Amino acid sequence: MMNAKKITLLSGDGIGPEVSKEGEKLLTVIESRFDYKFEIVKKDFGGIAIDKHGLPLPEDTLNACKKSDAVLLAAIGGPKYDTLPRAKRPETGLLSLRAGLNTFANLRPIMLFDPLLDSSTIKREILSGTDLIVVRELTGGLYFGKPKGIEVRNGEKVGFNTMIYTESEIKRIANVAFEIAGKRKKKITSIDKANVLDVSQLWRDVVIEVSKDYKDVTLEHLYIDNAAMQLIKNPGQFDVILAENLFGDILSDEGAMLTGSIGMLPSASTGDGSLPSIYEPVHGSAPDIAGKNLANPIAMILSIAMMFKYSFNDKKVYDTILKSVKSILNEGYRTKDIAQDKCKLVGTIEMGDLICNQISATNLRLSPNN
Ligand code: NAD
Repeated sequence: MMNAKKITLLSGDGIGPEVSKEGEKLLTVIESRFDYKFEIVKKDFGGIAIDKHGLPLPEDTLNACKKSDAVLLAAIGGPKYDTLPRAKRPETGLLSLRAGLNTFANLRPIMLFDPLLDSSTIKREILSGTDLIVVRELTGGLYFGKPKGIEVRNGEKVGFNTMIYTESEIKRIANVAFEIAGKRKKKITSIDKANVLDVSQLWRDVVIEVSKDYKDVTLEHLYIDNAAMQLIKNPGQFDVILAENLFGDILSDEGAMLTGSIGMLPSASTGDGSLPSIYEPVHGSAPDIAGKNLANPIAMILSIAMMFKYSFNDKKVYDTILKSVKSILNEGYRTKDIAQDKCKLVGTIEMGDLICNQISATNLRLSPNN
C-alpha cells in the first residue's frame, strides 16, 4: 500500500538550501524505489523568515510543521543576524520550534564509517569500534530556565541564566535513553556535575530512580568535565550518553569530531509522539562555505534516514540509505571537509547524486524487510 507522507521542509540559511536540495533528490529516489508518496511543504524559517516576515518562526511555518508527518530542517543563522536583539535572532526561532513541537529528546548518533577513520584528528586505533548515541534533553535546562537576562546591579551589568529541571522533565528524557539503550548495548552514561550543582544532584537521583525499571541496562555516572576527556580518550566505552541540554550540546559537538567532520552528523528531535519530530543535521549554516558547492550533504542525508527509522518505522529504507552512503565512501568519494590523500574529491551536488544513484542501483531484494 502506498505510504503518503507530508514533510515540512525548512531549508533556512547559508548551506541550508544546498543540502536541502540533496535531501529532496533523495526523497524523489526513495519514492521511485519504495512505496512512498511525499508531499513536501516548504516554509520560511530562520534568517530567511526574518528577511521576509520580520521574525524567525512565523506562525504559518509552525502551523505547517504541526500538520506534517515529520519536519526536515537544514540550518539557520548567519553573521547578518548576529546583531539583532535576541528575541529576533534565528536561534530564538529554533528554540521556539523545539518548544512548539515539544521535542524534548534530541538523539545524536555518532556513527563512524570505516573509510573515514583517518579523517578524524583522533587516532584510528582509538576510534575503532566507536558507536554511540547522545540523548540530549532539549526543551529545558539553562537554555530555557528563568530568570535570565542582563541587568544593572550595584552600578554594573550582570548577566544570568538558570539551569532548572523538574523531576518529570528528567524522568521523561531518562526513559527515552533507557528505552534506546535496551535496544543497543544496554549501557547508559548519565552526565552531570552533581559534585557542584544542585540541579545535577536532582538529575542523578531521578536517573537512578528511573533505572530501577530497566534492570538489564547498566547505569554509570560521569561528571561533565571527565566525560569530555573520556570521549576523546576512549570513545568505545560509551553506548548511550544521557545529558541535559547544555552538557549534551557540547558533548555531541565534541563527538562530531570523532567522525571527522560535523558535516557527517545527523540528529532527530522527538517528543511524546503527539506532534511531529524534527530531523536536522547537527551542523549550522556554515556561512564560510555557503553557495560554493562545498557543503557535505551526508548529515542531511543521514537525518532523512533517521526520519524513516523513528517517524516512519521503516528500517528497510534506513538501512538502504546507510548502506549507500557507506558504499560511496568506500569507493573513495569525499567532500572537502572529509578529504584524504588520493580521494575522489566531489562537491555537494555530486555527492548527493552519487548516493542517490547508488540507491537507484541497489538490489532491494537483498535488503531484509524491516
Ligand atoms: P557551523 O556548523 O555552521 O560551521 C562550523 C564549521 O564547520 C565551519 O568551518 C563550516 O564550514 C564547517 N561545516 C559545517 N557544516 C558543514 C558541512 N555540511 N560540510 C562541510 N563543512 C561544514 O557552526 P558555526 O560556524 O558556529 O555557526 C554558523 C552559523 O550557524 C551561526 O549563525 C550559528 O548560530 C548557526 N548555527 C545553526 C545551527 C542550526 O541551524 N541548528 C546549529 C549551529 C550553528
